[in-house]
Amino acid sequence: MQVKTILNRVQKFKSFVYTGVRWAGGGDTPELEVGVAERANGRARCSGCGGPGPGYDRLAARRFEFVPLWGIPVFLVYAPRRVECPRCGVRVEAMPWASGKSHLTQAYAWFLARWARRLSWKEVAQVFRTSWDSVFRAVEMAVEWGRAHQDLGGVQAIGIDEIAWKKGHRYLTLVYQIDPHCKRLLWVGENRRVRTLLKFFRWFGAQRSGELRYICSDMWKPYLKVIAKKAGQAVHVLDRFHIMAHLGKALDEVRAQEARTLKAKGYEPVLTKTRWLLLKRPENLTQKQEIKLADLLQYNLRSVRAYLLKEEFQFFWSYLSPYWAGWFLDQWCTRTMRSKIEPMKKVARMLRAHRALLLNWFRAKGQFSSGVVEGFNTKAKLTSRKSFGFRTYHGAEIALYHVLGALPEPESTHRFC
Ligand SMILES: [Zn+2]
Repeated sequence: MQVKTILNRVQKFKSFVYTGVRWAGGGDTPELEVGVAERANGRARCSGCGGPGPGYDRLAARRFEFVPLWGIPVFLVYAPRRVECPRCGVRVEAMPWASGKSHLTQAYAWFLARWARRLSWKEVAQVFRTSWDSVFRAVEMAVEWGRAHQDLGGVQAIGIDEIAWKKGHRYLTLVYQIDPHCKRLLWVGENRRVRTLLKFFRWFGAQRSGELRYICSDMWKPYLKVIAKKAGQAVHVLDRFHIMAHLGKALDEVRAQEARTLKAKGYEPVLTKTRWLLLKRPENLTQKQEIKLADLLQYNLRSVRAYLLKEEFQFFWSYLSPYWAGWFLDQWCTRTMRSKIEPMKKVARMLRAHRALLLNWFRAKGQFSSGVVEGFNTKAKLTSRKSFGFRTYHGAEIALYHVLGALPEPESTHRFC
């Protein structure tokens, strides 16, 4: 069987034929070149508008990288015609295997893009002996196609989150769909300002925004403001993940401060290496850590008191009625305000100020999957940390959409991977 026969089976083009296959490249790095020619009566079509046009001239042969075979790079070789299009002027003809001006065939670009979901971009480039840039272009193409073809109907619940990038101090705002039947990243924006979220709502459209029923977010002021203005009909829920993160941060601050004070006063270092002990949920501790925690809890330290306040707050989420949850919240805030532990008091003040939105958690219970924002947050951080070598916002955006966007792909007769 000839390679041509295989190609005709997996990737056949209507108006073009494969003419032959030959070796190319040097002795150590062999390549396969597959000749492509137009069918005898096949007319060239304009790449601008897709319409037919009279032939103008023919350009020099170009190579388009195809899916490798047995580890050997494969190229389609074709000399494109130019047409004199009545609408667009002189244009290169449309080639069904090519995507734009890229030197990658569409089949290969989708191949690389699919692998880039499983491996880092660098690894994909290494494994398939192509450049990082080619992998990036492939993923970019896949994301652009997917975003243009995705269905945005029926979105009822969204979660808004932010992640730090470029070593902190700079943020990306991420908007997820968190409906039980569909969870995906919908939108990425630079910064976390009022303007950032306004951009999301502009992209999402007034009608779809008006159909939202639940919005889950952190207490970040610019978000609260924009959500009230753009989707006032939706139940706005302050989500558990972000609130517990605020408490964790406050506790961490108390611990670090106290550890410094104790050290300065020359006390035994009871607080060293206790950071994860206090931040982890008790059920996730190892046996050794459990013993150390029990030991630590005997001291009347500010860190211990802050830890107990944080753990106590977990009860809040187990209430069923908003009324009793509100009662618990008020009790907890009063106790915390008396604790004289400033970082914890700061959180209590914040929770008091957002009491109504906090209690929405109980009104929305079971209507959307609340843990999903936390899950996405972890994956988004991992994606941006794996970093794929990108330093630009555009690179981060493309990577996040590719991994978390659940974007559609075109139907093709053969899947190369
Ligand atoms: Zn045209």
